[in-house]
Amino acid sequence: MTERVCGACGAEASPPFRAPQPEIAPDLDMRPGEPARSTLRDWVQVCPNCGAAAPELSALPSSARAVAESEEYRDLGTSALEETLELRRWALICERTGDRLQQAEALLQAAWAADDAAAMTEAAKLRTEVAALWDGTTDVELGLRRLDALRRAGLFEAAAAWAATMSERGQDELARAIIAFQQAKIAARDIGRHLISSALPPPAHSPHVSHGQRATTGFWSRLFRK
Ligand SMILES: [Zn+2]
Repeated sequence: MTERVCGACGAEASPPFRAPQPEIAPDLDMRPGEPARSTLRDWVQVCPNCGAAAPELSALPSSARAVAESEEYRDLGTSALEETLELRRWALICERTGDRLQQAEALLQAAWAADDAAAMTEAAKLRTEVAALWDGTTDVELGLRRLDALRRAGLFEAAAAWAATMSERGQDELARAIIAFQQAKIAARDIGRHLISSALPPPAHSPHVSHGQRATTGFWSRLFRK
């Protein structure tokens, strides 16, 4: 067994947290269902030596050390909502080490933490940042999650425009169903959380049925990856 150390500073690191398998469908932004959902606060580890934050400290590049020692990183301790702090710090490390996709995931998870803390303004602000990072994506799954981020941030015009952009590209049946569901919510000025299963056409309510199976592969494999 090899020793696990923090990639930023070399101090001993504990193994990463493994969330339990979700048993309930995810939200439209792919926040996993319970029992994984409520373990969000355990998803990021903090190095007791250098203060770096990441889901897996041993996977951090050595360049993360300078970020963890920066003033901006420390300042998050006073400026960020406490419940989002570790996720915001991980997002900053991703940003400074050039990993935009991981930065977006970290910020979205921070938005979920803000949701749980009923900090709606903060959650909307974080989702706006996520949507900016995913702007122009041609990846269908990221595009659908971006649509949800825009709607839940209350950016209804941008959300409607993005839904139109995605529709014009021509989508498979599952994506079309989700876009139509989002368009109805946008029209109703609904910023609430909805499960993917509520957006699927009736025969596809269960992820196990063959209808739409091909299209759902990406979604469900992400969920059960670990
Ligand atoms: Zn460290």
